[in-house]
Amino acid sequence: MVKPLPSYLGRLAPSPTGHLHLGHARTFWLAAERARSAGGALLLRNDDLDALRFRLDFVAAMLEDLRWLGFSWREPVVTQSTRLPRYRAALAALHAAGLIFPCTRTRRDVLEAVSAPHESAATPAPEDEPVYPPQFRPPLDAPLPPLGAVITVNWRFRVPDGEAISFHDARFGPQRAVAGRDFGDFLVWRKDDAPSYQLSCAVDDAELGITEVVRGADLIRSTFRQLLLIRALGHIAPAYYHAPLMLDDRGERLAKRHDALSLRTLRAQGVTPAEIIAPFRTVDPTP
Ligand code: GLU
Repeated sequence: MVKPLPSYLGRLAPSPTGHLHLGHARTFWLAAERARSAGGALLLRNDDLDALRFRLDFVAAMLEDLRWLGFSWREPVVTQSTRLPRYRAALAALHAAGLIFPCTRTRRDVLEAVSAPHESAATPAPEDEPVYPPQFRPPLDAPLPPLGAVITVNWRFRVPDGEAISFHDARFGPQRAVAGRDFGDFLVWRKDDAPSYQLSCAVDDAELGITEVVRGADLIRSTFRQLLLIRALGHIAPAYYHAPLMLDDRGERLAKRHDALSLRTLRAQGVTPAEIIAPFRTVDPTP
C-alpha cells in the first residue's frame, strides 16, 4: 500500500513588535499560496517572546491586518509565551546531552576577540553575528553547571566545528554553511530567563508538525542553526522556502523602514487588499 503523503502544514510567524508592512504581506501571501496549492493549512504563531519590544496592541493589530488581507489559519493561534515549558524541556534535553554551555562573555568581549588580528578564519556574512570565539568555550570535559530554576546566565549551543550543514531551499536551491566558520556557538537561552528565537522557533516548527517553513531570505542563516537544534532534539526537520526580501525604491529593506508602508497606513489611505496583493501575483510561488 502506498503511504499517504503527510499533509502540508505551514505557518505565519509575525512578531508583535511593530506594525506589519508590505514585505510581511508578500511573504505571508507566498506562505498562504504554497499551503493552498498543496491542499494544506497554516498555523498562526504569535512570536511574543521579545519582552522589550512586545506590545499587546501590536498583537491585535497584526491579527486584524492579516484578516483584512484575507488570510486564514487554523485556530487556535499559537502564542509562544504560553509554550515556555516546552522550550525549557528542550533546553534541559540539550543540557543533558552536553550540547550547550553557559556563557558570561559580553557582546563587547566577543566583538573585541573577533576583531583581534589572529582571528581571521571566521567570516560570517556581514549582517550576521560574529562567530563566537572558540577560546571562550569551556573545555568539552568540563562539568556543566546545572541550569537552575531561574536562569541568570546566557546558554549557547556548541556547534560541531567544521561540519557542513546543508538543506535544499525550495526557492533558492541548495544551501550550505560550515559550522564554526560561517556561524558559531549561538544563544539558546538568555540570562533574563527567556528562550532565544533560534530555540523557540526550532522547537515550535518541529513539535507543531510544520512541514514547510516559508519566511524571509534574511533568515536563511538562522535555518542552519535551527537545523542543528532540530537534529539535536531528535526531530525531523521541515522543508524550507525562503522568500526574496522586498526592497523599496532606494534598494533598502522594507523591514528597516518605519510606518510609511505599513499595512495600516496603506489601508487608511484607501488602498484595498486586492490592490496590495495584485503585484505579488507576478511572483510564482511554486517555481
Ligand atoms: N517572528 C520571526 C520574525 O518575524 C519569525 C521568523 C520565522 O519565520 O522563523 O522574524
